[in-house]
Parts: sequence; structure tokens; C-alpha cells
Amino acid sequence: MLSASAKVWHASSMTTAIRALAVHETAHAVVGHLLGATILNVTLNAKLRDGTTVIAQGFAPQKWGESVLMALAGGTAQRMVEPGRSMLDDPHHPDWANDTEKAEMLYSSRVGVIGTEGASDVEEDRLFAELECAAHRATAAALCTSELWLIIEAVADRLINNCCRLSGEELARTTDAMPTERARVALKAAACSLNNYRPNT
Ligand SMILES: [Zn+2]
Repeated sequence: MLSASAKVWHASSMTTAIRALAVHETAHAVVGHLLGATILNVTLNAKLRDGTTVIAQGFAPQKWGESVLMALAGGTAQRMVEPGRSMLDDPHHPDWANDTEKAEMLYSSRVGVIGTEGASDVEEDRLFAELECAAHRATAAALCTSELWLIIEAVADRLINNCCRLSGEELARTTDAMPTERARVALKAAACSLNNYRPNT
């Protein structure tokens, strides 16, 4: 009896974990697609709790906000289906660790662009933290758009039902079959706010 219940619990917890992973990876891909990136494919490796989104090429340097949104979308979306979860709870989630590293590189590169010349290390640390906060706020605000969330859920279901692999064409077809206008507007506004972000002085 105990073992049967344990098995049921295990199965349901695995399903939840795979779904959360699918939402994470799909969020990267859908956000990238709606912001104009060419997605080549999205895959999940449920066993390793890892996923990949391959894009034809990254965004141009002046589209810094777009790069940040795509990097943070996975973790932000995953937290929405697994409240309380963070990369710190799950250090063996390689994709999430890569996302964090990528986001940190993006903040550092931006500090180099908008930081005042000759600024102290303390000032640069403050700017880095400010950019990090602004990026997380903008990503969470965009992902709260119900239309965007419906797209992410539909594509995540398709990814799971398609043996954990979607081509870029399938991703684009599934996304573009749904209403996308509000989601695009929300994402472009978030990217624009980040690209025009100036630190407090
Ligand atoms: Zn990720």
C-alpha cells in the first residue's frame, strides 16, 4: 500500500518536473521567436533535467534588452509554475546555471557601456545590481501578460507530446496560430525599457 502510494507520488512529481522544465525551455524559445530571433530547435532531456534552445544567431549588441529577456524568461516562467523554486535550490539544473551566467555577462557588458568612465568598483557593483533588478522586473512584467502565458503553455504541451523535441518551424507554427499581438507588444515594451535604461545617479 505504502509502496503503491509512493509510486503514484513519484509519477506525479516526475510529471510536474517535466512540465516545469518544458515551460522553462519553451519560455526562452517563444520569447526569442516573438522578439524576432530565428529558433532552430528546442529539446528537453527529462532525465538530466536539462533543455536547450538553439537559435540561428544571437541578438545584435544594441538589442541588449532582447538578449536579457530571452535569457531570463526560462527561470522566470519556471518559478511561475514552481513557486519558490530557484537555481539555488537546484544547483544541478545545468540550463538554469547557464542562464544565470549568461545574464551576468550581459549585465557586465552593459556596465561597460553605460557606466561612467573611471567609476569605482563600488559604483560598478551598484550599477550591476540595479541592472539586474530592472531586468528581472521587466521580464516578470512581460511574462505576466496572459496572452504570452497561453502561448508558452500551448507550446510546452506540444513539446512534451512531440517526444521532447520541436523544430523551429513547429515552434513558429504553434505560436503564430495563436493571438500574439499583445504578447509582442508587451515584450517589445520590456525590451525597449531595458535598452533605454539609465541608472540612477
Ligand atoms: Zn534556461
